Amino acid sequence: MTNSNSQSVKEKSAPKGVKAKSGAAAGLRDLMVDGLKDIYWAEKTLTKAIPKMIKNATSEDLIEALTSHLEETKQQVTRLEQVFETLGEKPVAKKCDAMDGLTKEAEDIMESTEAGVVRDAGIISAGQKVEHYEIATYGTLCSFAKILGENEAASLLEQTLNEEKSADIKVSEISNSINLDAAGEEE
Ligand code: FE
Ligand code: ZN
Ligand code: FE
Ligand code: FE
Repeated sequence: MTNSNSQSVKEKSAPKGVKAKSGAAAGLRDLMVDGLKDIYWAEKTLTKAIPKMIKNATSEDLIEALTSHLEETKQQVTRLEQVFETLGEKPVAKKCDAMDGLTKEAEDIMESTEAGVVRDAGIISAGQKVEHYEIATYGTLCSFAKILGENEAASLLEQTLNEEKSADIKVSEISNSINLDAAGEEE
């Protein structure tokens, strides 16, 4: 996977961006570790958020997909601990503002719909935003790990990336019939 920011950037002179905090990432490795801490928090949060989505879903297919992804998510937490381990880093969770927001939105959607196909459609919409965030995150982390020669970490991250992609495709397929049913409630 190529990264679009790989073109050489001439920015040695005073940049106009925000002032970095103390302890800011000194290089790509630090940036990768920061990203791992962020997604570690996100995955742990999802192990609590997905059960709420399962409880609120009515479609058997959706319940099944969410339940199997919950199990994968628990394994992804463990897999991230392995990634930290191979890098010689402590597994530290750092609040992911994006996942905090995405899971809050999922709750808002559930509260603003009646249980049934419409809420199911809403759960899928929220779930796919989560999966896309994860796909973007693991795609980037995997490419960082590869470029840094951290091949074991890269292969672990790639396994999770593939699970996230499959989960996205699976719910996307389920959404076809659910969205149709939900549209039928329109009368
Ligand atoms: Fe995940
Ligand atoms: Zn984040
Ligand atoms: Fe975002
Ligand atoms: Fe996921």
